[in-house]
Amino acid sequence: MSKKYQIATIEGDGIGPEVTQATMQVLDEACGKGGLHFEMLDGGANHYVKSGHVLPEDTFDACRRMDAILHGAAGMPGIVYPDGTEVGNDLHLRLRFRLDLYANVRPIKLLPGVLSPLRAFENGGIDYVIIRENTEGLYASRGAGVLLRDEFASDSLIITRKGTERVAKFAFELARKRRGAQADGKARVTVCDKANILRAYAFFRAVCDDVHRDFSDVEIDYAYADAITVHLLKRPDFYDVIVAENMFGDIISDLGAATVGGMGISPSGEIGDQHALFQGAHGSAPDIAGQNLASPVATILSAVMMLRWLGDKHGDAGITQAGDRIEAAVGKVLAEKIAVPRDLGGQASCTEMTEAVCKELAA
Ligand code: ATP
Ligand code: MG
Repeated sequence: MSKKYQIATIEGDGIGPEVTQATMQVLDEACGKGGLHFEMLDGGANHYVKSGHVLPEDTFDACRRMDAILHGAAGMPGIVYPDGTEVGNDLHLRLRFRLDLYANVRPIKLLPGVLSPLRAFENGGIDYVIIRENTEGLYASRGAGVLLRDEFASDSLIITRKGTERVAKFAFELARKRRGAQADGKARVTVCDKANILRAYAFFRAVCDDVHRDFSDVEIDYAYADAITVHLLKRPDFYDVIVAENMFGDIISDLGAATVGGMGISPSGEIGDQHALFQGAHGSAPDIAGQNLASPVATILSAVMMLRWLGDKHGDAGITQAGDRIEAAVGKVLAEKIAVPRDLGGQASCTEMTEAVCKELAA
């Protein structure tokens, strides 16, 4: 590794602290203890109860200053702001907007040994990446919707040229990098929209078409959001990179996660031009918090994405290789059923999963 990376680390709520500690242990094993510096930072719903701040300015400053952000999960049901709205994962949403993390990268990949409800693809074929636009779309209306006399409510779907161009470019560049991941050797971006129904989605598609002019080596394909829910179950092997408006991306990435073992195994990275935040695709799962039951795999695989992102950004092959080693160790633990987390039908606790991965790394 060419430098000591500073990782802004926010454990958050619910299972957040357990999966974060597990991931730090794995990172220490792969990068050498002290190879990364974890700066432990406050934030989240429980911290709001203690301090009145969901994202303290100190935490935000550290996130902006440091090399990358590692996050457990945030949100606790029942913790509300004075106006009665849920605090939820506001910490994460605020970081997303303030650091302009516009591309939410959700790899959907079935690992050997993991059972899928799609039996036909258990021996391979599910390996695609959803790029969810993360800063506009229907979610831009959050906190700005209108409720009139308890009789009428409305929210706005915002699609901008700039917002769509940058996320489409991100998707096409990723497809180029992934070329070869598809059995047919093609690189393909599928634009997921509802261009037949709403003008904003037709505009999203048109802007993706414009961006595609600079990527003529990548195939472009289109799918309506309703139709793609069927395709992702019937022929997931067709997909390579999917780019979707914020809310459609949210929905289809949960569906995709369910086809590869569920929320406990699905990683996520939120990436902007300067900053990036990595956390499992799941939430804080308060139902299983504090009992050593959570699977740390999603957060560990998110950390793999973090190491590769740092490696690309800094031209540091050493840190990319540390990520590759962690991914291989997790793959081996699952494929050989050395330890299987509970949400994948096994008995391993959070600490047992972590120890099994560390043991593989040390071997
Ligand atoms: P959010 O609103 O933040 O997306 P959510 O309401 O969708 O959260 P999650 O926290 O993602 O809910 O979890 C849904 C359920 O999935 C949990 O109640 C838990 O049982 C299970 N789950 C989530 N993450 C994990 C994990 N890492 N390991 C095991 N089970 C998990
Ligand atoms: Mg959810």
